[in-house]
Amino acid sequence: MQEHSAALSSNVRTRFFIDGEWVASHSQQRHVLISPATEDPFMEIPLADPVDVERAIAAARRAFDHGPWPKMSGEERGVYLKRLTEEVRQRLPLLTQLWTDQVGAPSAFATSLIPVGITRFEFFSSLLDTYEFEDSRPTLRGHVRVRREPVGVAALIVPWNATFPIVSQKMAAALAAGCTVVVKSPQESPLDALIIAECAAAAGLPAGVLNVITAGRDEGAQLVQSPDVDKISFTGSVPTGQWIARAAADRVARVTLELGGKSAAILLDDVDLPSAFAALVPFTMPFSGQICFSQTRILAPRARYDEVVDTYAQIISKLKVGDPAHADTKVGPVLSDSQRKRVRTYIERGIGEGAKLVTGGTGNAGFDRGYFVEPTVFSNVTQEMTIAREEIFGPVVSILAYDTVNDAIRIANDTPYGLSGSVYGQDLERAYEVACRVRTGNIGINGVELAANAPFGGFKQSGLGREGGREGLEAYLETKAVFMPTPVA
Ligand code: NAD
Repeated sequence: MQEHSAALSSNVRTRFFIDGEWVASHSQQRHVLISPATEDPFMEIPLADPVDVERAIAAARRAFDHGPWPKMSGEERGVYLKRLTEEVRQRLPLLTQLWTDQVGAPSAFATSLIPVGITRFEFFSSLLDTYEFEDSRPTLRGHVRVRREPVGVAALIVPWNATFPIVSQKMAAALAAGCTVVVKSPQESPLDALIIAECAAAAGLPAGVLNVITAGRDEGAQLVQSPDVDKISFTGSVPTGQWIARAAADRVARVTLELGGKSAAILLDDVDLPSAFAALVPFTMPFSGQICFSQTRILAPRARYDEVVDTYAQIISKLKVGDPAHADTKVGPVLSDSQRKRVRTYIERGIGEGAKLVTGGTGNAGFDRGYFVEPTVFSNVTQEMTIAREEIFGPVVSILAYDTVNDAIRIANDTPYGLSGSVYGQDLERAYEVACRVRTGNIGINGVELAANAPFGGFKQSGLGREGGREGLEAYLETKAVFMPTPVA
């Protein structure tokens, strides 16, 4: 980490970005970052207190109510966002390293997924070239101008697991819409959004348009409850999302929620197993399963169940576990000791409830230091078992057998979640029909994909609203109808 921290400016390491300035925190509270791979402390960062939060909200409020940003045309904002995008692009290698250093993402994984963040900036800045913020429609009396105006001050609350791609999705859309923004970074992964703030300063964004602080849950709650915040976009766990939805309801604040998942990969009976696993395996326990759209339940036809279990377990047992900084490491540590304990409790529960442990378990994968959990596969899992129902957020996958396609769809849907999923088979139209019957916001045929121009989000308890695509921009817009007494020009 030392060499990477040398690449960080002292502003990013020690300050917050508020009202266009790098400011010292009012709070004296500090948080020590611990490497998940070595358990060594490597950096101390400031944590915001209520005064810091108020400063950030006030700056964003002023910039929205009195500043130029919400009044600019889409094309004008697009010029700033394209400059911002280029600044971010230059820092992608640093952001990739920080994903590994701060939370232990294997560098090969981080390298392959970091471009997702930049494509989000590219998409929203380009969308502004063509997006119509106003259209006209005839009425009996004349015409109505339908305007799409920015919602106002947006609070963006992000989790630790994929901070850069997630904050990029929210920030690019909110800024494109003309909102002003307060980002609350998670304390485990505080540096990403501050680096983007450096990019915003270099791109010349007006003061107060982007404000970035790092804080824990109480200050997050303060943001959610502030009457000066018009929109909350949250990514994190279901219980926090439920709390935020309830708090926002008090003043009918706008809310987007991206929550957890328990996604199913359905292998149809005509599946070509080698090609299906080549596409699926990287998404079953990516980043030690600490990704919301991990395909953590594999549904296999009973006639091919043993073949599926044997093949998958063999692949997983050969994955290289180790230092996330090494290029050939496939599975690194989980975030923390408490996360490791939580995952182990689920594994013990799986064994206790009668699932068969095929590979892995509760061991340390041979490491004395670092929060390692062996990649773990269970077979003979039934839908009632805890490991098949709850989001584990660790490297644990369950393989369930099904008898008919209807049965597979019923099992896939028998969960309070509905975030992601995938279907594998050689008959693409049949796979598509199955995908249409799975109650989930995103689903892939013969693979798993993210795209900046596609909406992302969950059915059921996986969330509310969508990010990404035009839908993601519109999540930060209010629609106004202005009735004119003259015909459409
Ligand atoms: P978390 O809910 O504990 O915390 C998420 C963020 O919310 C953090 O910044 C935290 O400080 C803040 N927070 C906590 N309590 C708050 C409150 N009362 N008010 C305001 N802010 C508060 O989640 P986590 O453990 O950091 O992240 C893991 C979860 O995130 C998993 O469930 C995962 O599935 C989910 N996730 C979802 C997506 C998605 O796009 N759907 C993406 C990544 C992660």
